[in-house]
Amino acid sequence: MNSSEIRQHFLDFFASKDHKILPSAPLVPQDDPTLLWINAGMAPFKKYFDGSATPPKRRIATSQKCIRTNDIENVGKTARHQTFFEMLGNFSFGDYFKEEAIRWGYEFLKDELGLDESKFWISIYKDDDEAFKIWHEKIGVPKDRIVRMGKDENFWEIGTGPCGPCSEIHYDRGIEYGCDEGCELGCECDRYLEVWNLVFTQYNKTEDGEYLDLPQKNIDTGVGLERLASLLQDVESNFETDLFQPLINYITDNCDVEYGAEEQADIAVKVIADHIRSVTFAIGDGALPSNEGRGYVVRRLLRRAVRYAKELDLEIPFLHTIVPLVVEVMGEHYTKLEDKEEQIKKIVKQEEKRFQKTLAQGMNILEDIIAELKEKDVAEIPGQKVFTLYDTYGFPKELTAEIAAEHGFTIDESGFESAMQEQRQRAREAREDHDQGHSELELFKDIKDDVGEVDFVGYEEFELETE
Ligand code: ATP
Ligand code: MG
Ligand code: MG
Ligand code: MG
Repeated sequence: MNSSEIRQHFLDFFASKDHKILPSAPLVPQDDPTLLWINAGMAPFKKYFDGSATPPKRRIATSQKCIRTNDIENVGKTARHQTFFEMLGNFSFGDYFKEEAIRWGYEFLKDELGLDESKFWISIYKDDDEAFKIWHEKIGVPKDRIVRMGKDENFWEIGTGPCGPCSEIHYDRGIEYGCDEGCELGCECDRYLEVWNLVFTQYNKTEDGEYLDLPQKNIDTGVGLERLASLLQDVESNFETDLFQPLINYITDNCDVEYGAEEQADIAVKVIADHIRSVTFAIGDGALPSNEGRGYVVRRLLRRAVRYAKELDLEIPFLHTIVPLVVEVMGEHYTKLEDKEEQIKKIVKQEEKRFQKTLAQGMNILEDIIAELKEKDVAEIPGQKVFTLYDTYGFPKELTAEIAAEHGFTIDESGFESAMQEQRQRAREAREDHDQGHSELELFKDIKDDVGEVDFVGYEEFELETE
């Protein structure tokens, strides 16, 4: 089954269970200043979960675009993590609860997708006897494949408010995927692949730390499309699925890498493929590269990808030429992406060119710093140096930290922050000094007094140079 079919199958299945199918919300959260990116299927529905708004229907299912930067270091190293992925999810707002959520999840994996049920392993929250009973007595999963786990793994809460236990469905990929023969469910390796997380929002946590029963219980589930595709297509990782293969092939066709031959090179190829997907969708949803907030994340992802591309001796600018392939692979479902293809390409190309100019110089400087510190037996790069790399050579501090770590070094984060603050302060003072004199604004006011109102003709008379 290809990934488009899996996605559609999921949505059709939950439509047949009376769910309303909604399109993916944009990656940039709407009316939610607490969140940088939509990072889960439930994120756009927070207002329905806390009851501050009424959902269009009490049962909803989606395929949601997600960005998670907390997984950035895992990309290319595990079989299962990307910074951009799609989360398929079904939600109940005060409608069905635990039994249906479990039953339908299981039915979808086993009957609809045809996955081997003897490979399923279930984790539940240690005190959730109700979930245990459903899994064991009603569904028939053997006791020894239901594992009780603690709060860190199987209880969902953020501070106070709605929260509850969860249950995750894992698929045993076999010992060849394990870190050693004895590894167990809960291990960070790829053997017991976490496929689906079912969250049972049944409590309200008070300020005093009490868990009260919620009058309206909710269901929030999420299953990764790429992980399902890897199982159904029987490939080693998410990167060998039809969602990634065209990108991977294109990248390796353009450099001297034989995919599968050398681990470090494979990681670079996977990182590039992943980051360009994130960036394409992020820009498509209105986040532009910049030095702050979301824009900074876009810039950071792109620059990280440029660095990996350089390692593969790819000629920069290159990444922008992958954008049309992302659109081709994803465009069938995300139909609006195509209209933005040209614009995204231009923005990516511009960013690549900008960083290309300073990357090599910055790398030389960083290598010199590291060599110098090694002589002195110091293992931390001073904040001021990290700042110079950022300010003059466009190195996001995370990139410097990563390169430093590869050499066994850390960076002085707080020194970097104070250098940044100092620079902001200097900029502020410079502005203030300027304003005390004859500021440009005043100059323009004088001109206006002299010549009166004029029409702005720039749009007709000039064309912005973007190449
Ligand atoms: P993991 O333990 O493997 O990091 P998670 O517990 O962080 O996953 P959840 O927050 O429970 O993931 O998200 C629900 C589902 O979304 C996961 O079961 C998985 O199928 C998918 N998913 C989560 N993070 C990623 C990612 N970075 N890349 C691809 N799929 C993901
Ligand atoms: Mg995770
Ligand atoms: Mg997990
Ligand atoms: Mg999980």
